[in-house]
Amino acid sequence: MIKAQLKDVEDRINEACLRANRDPKDVTLIAVSKTKPLSDLEQVLDSGVIEFGENKVQELVDKYEHIKSPVHWHMIGHLQTNKVKYIVDKVEMIHSVDSFKLASVISKEASKKNVTVNILIEVNVAKEESKFGITLDEVKDLVTEISSLPNISIKGLMTIAPFVDNPEDNRMVFRSLYNMAQEIKALNIDNVSMDELSMGMTNDFEVAIEEGATFVRVGTAIFGTRNYNI
Ligand SMILES: *Cc1c(COP(=O)(O)O)cnc(C)c1O
Repeated sequence: MIKAQLKDVEDRINEACLRANRDPKDVTLIAVSKTKPLSDLEQVLDSGVIEFGENKVQELVDKYEHIKSPVHWHMIGHLQTNKVKYIVDKVEMIHSVDSFKLASVISKEASKKNVTVNILIEVNVAKEESKFGITLDEVKDLVTEISSLPNISIKGLMTIAPFVDNPEDNRMVFRSLYNMAQEIKALNIDNVSMDELSMGMTNDFEVAIEEGATFVRVGTAIFGTRNYNI
């Protein structure tokens, strides 16, 4: 079941790329495995996907320790500064950096472990009260500030779009994030690339791809609905 669902998501990614005249190699699927057991992750690994997204430090570290084959772990959830030390040397990328304070701690912990951490800046494009992330007009200043920190590399921007019935309603959210990344790219800030845009989830990943996503974070469409009460 998971393998068939994964295949379906991959087909839809390819079709969205075709529509948008994009190379499917430029879009990376992150399988969002939060709350799901290792046996579910094994099925996805078995199909050749090695990018996994988790939103809790403890769960990411547990899964990291249990899966022996090579996996790229993506931290996609809100990150508390006191937990940074547990993951800096385990993750491929942290998608949820939304303050200079958090970035400074990542930089400090990364220096201690002698690694460089790839990060994305989380933007709350639609300014929803319930969400983390900075607003679009704060992005340039924060990127500039963080760019001077050692052992940290800013790769782009991330957003969690509003939950909507019609994915078309999020098209402008994705387009605004893309445009902001282009604006920042034009500034040519040292240590900042803006090549990655992490946007699009189960409900809206096709629209996100049409608007330039390079990472889509898909959970439900691959693993089925989540049960948070177990
Ligand atoms: C849970 C989660 C996802 C995946 O959501 P689905 O709707 O299940 O695809 C993507 N991004 C973040 C940040 C998440 O927390």
